[in-house]
Amino acid sequence: MVTYFKEILTGFYSLLAGMAVTIKYFVKPIVTVQYPRQKLSMSPAYRGHTEFVLDLETGTHRCIACEMCARICPSQLITVEGVKIDPKKKVPRKYVIEYQYCSLCGLCVESCPTKALKFSEEYRLAGFSREDCVVDLLARLQAQQQRAGLAVTPRPEARREEGEAKPEGEVKG
Ligand code: SF4
Ligand code: SF4
Repeated sequence: MVTYFKEILTGFYSLLAGMAVTIKYFVKPIVTVQYPRQKLSMSPAYRGHTEFVLDLETGTHRCIACEMCARICPSQLITVEGVKIDPKKKVPRKYVIEYQYCSLCGLCVESCPTKALKFSEEYRLAGFSREDCVVDLLARLQAQQQRAGLAVTPRPEARREEGEAKPEGEVKG
């Protein structure tokens, strides 16, 4: 008889203990994210792939195509092609990274003399080939400018030297 009542009490205690845990979590803030419909805010320490800093004073990037980042990158995954838009100013015509090789070491960000690079908050990345991992920083900047309602930085054309042949398919002037 004693055992019978003891079992009832133990069962009742277990029920209360379980309900206490349920009630505790019921009133706590929800931490579950409805991925992929809901986007997470990443911590400031998070390192996504690199991207250009959008300078709000000038409305564009700060890259001067010096290629310091490309030279220091231990994985040699950065391709920068600069073009002079006037005798004193050089800007990137192409800036792409092959993100699949990036170790997120941060050397490119640290070494940039104009602080033109930062780590993005991008975490929703997937692809089926290596080409899907190639990130075009100029294209990303243009998309960012469009979202912010700013003038889009055009991709500068390469200046040709006098007498140099025009690329195939270009109408001769
Ligand atoms: S991102 Fe910085 S280091 Fe890299 S080419 Fe541009 S200015 Fe130079
Ligand atoms: S974080 Fe490191 S590995 Fe990645 S692009 Fe920059 S220098 Fe290269």
